[in-house]
Amino acid sequence: GDAPDHPAGGPVTGGTPDRPDAGLPAGGTASHREPVEVLVVGSANLDRVIRLDRLPRPGETVLTGDAETGAGGKGANQAVALARLGRRVALRAAVGQDAGGDTLLAGLRRAGVDVSGVRRIEGVPTGEALILLDGDGENSIVVLEGANRWLGPADVGPARPAPAAVLVQCEVPTAAVRAALAVTGPLRILNPAPAQGVDAALLAQVDVLVPNRIELAQLTGRPVTDLDEARAALAALPVDRAVVTLGAVGALVRDGQRYELVPAPAVPVVDTTGAGDCFCATLTSALVDGLPLVEAARWAVVAAALSTRAVGAQGGLPTPGEITELLA
Ligand code: ADP
Repeated sequence: GDAPDHPAGGPVTGGTPDRPDAGLPAGGTASHREPVEVLVVGSANLDRVIRLDRLPRPGETVLTGDAETGAGGKGANQAVALARLGRRVALRAAVGQDAGGDTLLAGLRRAGVDVSGVRRIEGVPTGEALILLDGDGENSIVVLEGANRWLGPADVGPARPAPAAVLVQCEVPTAAVRAALAVTGPLRILNPAPAQGVDAALLAQVDVLVPNRIELAQLTGRPVTDLDEARAALAALPVDRAVVTLGAVGALVRDGQRYELVPAPAVPVVDTTGAGDCFCATLTSALVDGLPLVEAARWAVVAAALSTRAVGAQGGLPTPGEITELLA
């Protein structure tokens, strides 16, 4: 949803001040590296992954001793996946002035992501995700937004010189999403996740839309339970270049009047968390290389399949060499 003017009615976690301080930029050192190729705008979270035999039903208690903490948030995941693919990538995001923020920034830097534009906010906790993972690799997720909720339009300003692509998701306030897509020049790719708050005006700012089937159904008000319905829903979108991800089935691409199913390779799945993020990042990278949308989706399904081989949203992210090997 939109950024609240006031935290009241917003985060339920304690300690939120009336006006979070802009704080200091997280970067520190001036970057004299080559220009950024992809600017990612989005969330950065600490992920608490809790493994269960099966997900609890409402009212049910399930016991487990199996949990681990990792880095996540769609913005951070997509930025790290792009860095792994060898892209020069910068992230615009917001984290707290806390240990969690330190951990996330250190991880992003290690991965090769330019974090000089990540904002640190005093008095608000770093975002956190509680991820329940069942024995089949399916998940249910609750996100405590924390600092992500305070990412504003002024924080997402375009990199100079302009990148080749801007990749945005919807775990940050809609005003920031709008500002990130209000650029001319870069290819604008939106992963409308979650889809609440995405309206026609926002879709008009998008060159390539990448929803999953739930988001596509929400955006179009149509059921998306099989390929025919997915195709009809893609056709109903006001964006004529779009890819709907279909889990183990793969992805259905709409490029103007052309529709094509790109099947996912069959792989042993450990954890699908972050597969969609890897998909979006790889699609973006391939589009930056000038590939047509369907060809870009071929890379993306292979990369996303590889990303399911390890636990965690940022575990198992493939290199270009690994993708090429499985594509062949
Ligand atoms: P999200 O995780 O965002 O809901 P999907 O479930 O559609 O998105 O997964 C995104 C992409 O990840 C799929 O299009 C596919 O390429 C890949 N993927 C997901 N699950 C599997 C799986 N079980 N086997 C192979 N690839 C998968």
